[in-house]
Amino acid sequence: NKKMLFLGMDFGTSGARYVVIDEDGVICAEAKKDYPPHQITGNMRDWEKSWKETLFSLLGDIPVSLRKYIVSICIDGTSSTTIIVDSATGELLSTPFLYNENCLDALEIVRSIAPENHTVCSGSSTLCKLISWWNSHELDKDTAILMHQSDWLLWLLHGEFGFSDYNNTLKVGYDPGTGSYPPWLLSQPFSGMLPSVKSPGAPIGYLKDDIRLQLGFSRECVVCAGTTDSIAAFLAARVNEPGKAVTSLGSTLAIKVLSTHRVDDARFGVYSHRLDDKWLVGGASNTGGAVLKSLFNDDMLTKLSEQIDPSIPSPLKYYPLPSTGERFPIADPNLVSRLHPRPENNVEYLHGILESISHIEAKAYRLLNELGATKVEEIFTAGGGAKNDAWIKIRERVLGLPVHRAVHTEAAYGSALLAQKSFGK
Ligand code: ADP
Repeated sequence: NKKMLFLGMDFGTSGARYVVIDEDGVICAEAKKDYPPHQITGNMRDWEKSWKETLFSLLGDIPVSLRKYIVSICIDGTSSTTIIVDSATGELLSTPFLYNENCLDALEIVRSIAPENHTVCSGSSTLCKLISWWNSHELDKDTAILMHQSDWLLWLLHGEFGFSDYNNTLKVGYDPGTGSYPPWLLSQPFSGMLPSVKSPGAPIGYLKDDIRLQLGFSRECVVCAGTTDSIAAFLAARVNEPGKAVTSLGSTLAIKVLSTHRVDDARFGVYSHRLDDKWLVGGASNTGGAVLKSLFNDDMLTKLSEQIDPSIPSPLKYYPLPSTGERFPIADPNLVSRLHPRPENNVEYLHGILESISHIEAKAYRLLNELGATKVEEIFTAGGGAKNDAWIKIRERVLGLPVHRAVHTEAAYGSALLAQKSFGK
């Protein structure tokens, strides 16, 4: 009965992280690395070299004594980060399109081919990036293929072209409901560039011999299909029953509930990712930590929160926003932030703000349920606001549900769980 370990890696916006877990999900090793400063020239970063260098530097950081026990590897990357690769040479055919890059030149075309309000109808969607590349390049179109950031990083490890997963491909137009690309996409001249789609965590190939021998990994080590960073972060909380949800209290308030039904509603920016036989329905409000940060530093937040009595409802009714406009749970581009009247006492003020954000969270979960998602029964919390105990108690009272801090919130941990899943663990 040989010891088995599972490696998950997360590639974010400023750096990457790895986590090695055992069969029980216990962390055996982990580390984080910022992308190397020497890959910046002027104010331009060489993303290809940054990601590749960080991948191998993290692999080299894994304790040598653990490496031979690692039986599978999974990686998540930022959603809609798009790489066009020449499948004949493995070279990139343009600089990577980053997750937040807008390809407005392609948006009109995307709107004309995709159904109205489809997730691809946004300037930063993978499909806009793909079409932008297709329309501005003449050469190498026969051998060009589309890869997402995690597909490419995983490819560096297994060497097989042409695979992705149903989370990453959602923003190029893949339909996880039917398990296929829709006809309006397949009829496009660039459809040959689309990858074939696997379940996140499905094995794709063995770790390449040269890498395995150089770093001392096992011959049995497989490399799996990846996912996106936000899905991996959700998986980290180990939520696996319908009705369980994760609220992320970071700069914004994002909620995700595991549901038996798929819900997509472009008015509210609500859409669903597939997770095995269930759906992960999510939406994001502009309220959240960014507003708190503009009023109080982290130290003040901690000290003021300690003085709040969470069992008492605050009479203050706010709608805190960092700037005008809200998408979810109210779709109103003209909604103005409301943070007045401001009481003289900062404890009362913060109490009112935390309470008001909790009401927005409650409204958000109610709306997902009204739109058809499974009713939420239990909430786990991630992000900077998760460490605030008073807020957790306020939220339990306002939401009328049990609220916990998630034990694990790192996307890398979620990816490690996917690597584990490839072994049916
Ligand atoms: P992101 O990754 O979205 O930038 P984080 O998950 O790192 O955000 O969370 C940062 C946010 O958490 C900040 O906006 C900050 O105001 C908020 N925050 C930090 N400490 C607390 C606290 N004790 N209570 C509530 N919010 C907090």
